[in-house]
Amino acid sequence: MATDLFSTARERLEAAARHLDIEREIIDQLRYPKETLAATLLVRMDDGSRKTFKAWRCRYDDTRGPTKGGIRFHPAVNVDEVMTLAFWMTFKCAVVNLPFGGAKGGVSVDVKTLSRAELERLSRSYVEAFSRFIGPERDIPAPDMYTNGIVMAWMADEYGTITGHPSPAIITGKPVALGGSLGRDDATGRGGFHVLRHLKDDLWISAKSRVILQGFGNASFHCARLLHDDGYRITGLSDSTAAIHDPAGMDPYAVMEHKQRSGSVAGAPTQGHARQLDNAELLETECDVLIPAALENQITEANAAAIKAPVILELANGPVTPAADAILDKKGTVVIPDILANSGGVTVSYFEWVQNKTGYYWPVEEVHAKLQAMMEPETRRVWEVAREKAVSMRTAAYVHALERIGHAVEARGTKAFFNAKG
Ligand code: NAD
Repeated sequence: MATDLFSTARERLEAAARHLDIEREIIDQLRYPKETLAATLLVRMDDGSRKTFKAWRCRYDDTRGPTKGGIRFHPAVNVDEVMTLAFWMTFKCAVVNLPFGGAKGGVSVDVKTLSRAELERLSRSYVEAFSRFIGPERDIPAPDMYTNGIVMAWMADEYGTITGHPSPAIITGKPVALGGSLGRDDATGRGGFHVLRHLKDDLWISAKSRVILQGFGNASFHCARLLHDDGYRITGLSDSTAAIHDPAGMDPYAVMEHKQRSGSVAGAPTQGHARQLDNAELLETECDVLIPAALENQITEANAAAIKAPVILELANGPVTPAADAILDKKGTVVIPDILANSGGVTVSYFEWVQNKTGYYWPVEEVHAKLQAMMEPETRRVWEVAREKAVSMRTAAYVHALERIGHAVEARGTKAFFNAKG
């Protein structure tokens, strides 16, 4: 499965390459990561025993700058998955013009089996093992699945101990008290909101359109509340326990309050008569915009034909499979791809790194304004590439990113990236 994931990633590269006149050797170079390091972490458990954990860090491509990408703690993590996620990060950073290449890290571990002290020792041991591989000018990690601000704080502290001086720019996603950026908490949802709002006239949607979101966590809640504040009608929501639908709309703030009290979106107050349904049914319910914001592989060959939304905004990573993409494309469904739609998170991580390096911290309004100013022109460009080349927005996003990576290779002067007529 993980190997399939990496092949899928490379298919995206080939699809983009077909629309650019590019030297083959460069595409071949981008088919493989620049470097991947594997390590075995030896961690002292609370009972005095020592346990080993497999760990990886992959720096996929650093043509455009230091590499950037999260660290995932999950039992299913393996080297193929880490390489694939690093590939995606390379293109995500390029599509929104961050001066970064892509990277990713992971540890094969079930964090639910660890005490807090064991988790801290594991996090510190990861940094010890990869301390020469990462660096504020070389490779900058961030949180991913089952890692958070506290883990980032332990890691930054460990790196400071190894180097002998505090280096907040080594890692992003830190708590604000330790050099994290204001505005990082809602950056992914906010970025998705800007992408959608910027394209609303092109997509024939309006502030009254009906929106369904899958998931009600960090990315989804903030996107839902910003859309709601802008007048959009949130008609469906789900979490891992239930899905609710109300054509009259619902107030995401009230739903979140209910979820925090009860642990589920089920039974949340809405503006009409909410119906509870299962998650799969919610995806197929009529609406103007569908926002998968929970898990990978939610829209597949099995349900793509039944999706009624004319627009899908991928806030999650990889929620639409390639087979589903082909079906949706044929139907005329516009899929706004993950590498653009959820890039608000890494964009504010970039702002955190800039603030750490300068030692000058911005008010939240400035972070919001800079995020919008970065996302809108890139969204417009991806839309234009899709029109000019008559391709899906996903292919357009990869073409746009690949073109940027290509120009960076060319500017380095080591290789002519584009053919003479390109
Ligand atoms: P989160 O853990 O805060 O929220 C995930 C939500 O999905 C929760 O509400 C959970 O209940 C729900 N969920 C889980 N299984 C579900 C199911 N079967 N059906 C419906 N809902 C289900 O996570 P998040 O940070 O919001 O991330 C969500 C997605 O967005 C992931 O794919 C992540 O990779 C992607 N993403 C997040 C960020 C970020 O900054 N948070 C950045 C880029 C991409």
